[in-house]
Amino acid sequence: MSLSRRMEKQRLDDYRKRLLREREELLGLVARAQEEGRFADGEGTQDLADKAANSYTKEFLFHQSSNERSVLQLIEEALARIQEGNYGQCVHCGGPMESKRLEAVPWARHCVPCQEMQDQGLL
Ligand SMILES: [Zn+2]
Repeated sequence: MSLSRRMEKQRLDDYRKRLLREREELLGLVARAQEEGRFADGEGTQDLADKAANSYTKEFLFHQSSNERSVLQLIEEALARIQEGNYGQCVHCGGPMESKRLEAVPWARHCVPCQEMQDQGLL
């Protein structure tokens, strides 16, 4: 029997709802960042200081939205794992993830030891 089948359906459902809510929010932020990025392009009548400020803003928005995009990707993967019935298992070692970890980061892919290895570039 897989881990997530052992995970109560109710709890799994709570994670799924949280992930969906989080995804909704991030999609809104990404859309807004794209909108502001377009706005920051301006109409070509700015002086150099404006241009510098705008390219800084664009850079900032770009990095911010690429962070959001990678979290979105992780959320999609977590939702797929719920569907496949292996949510709550580390994608690397297959071990169970602590519920504390899932509470904090419901889209986490790795258990704590594997995450530490990945952070150190060992994975
Ligand atoms: Zn692991």
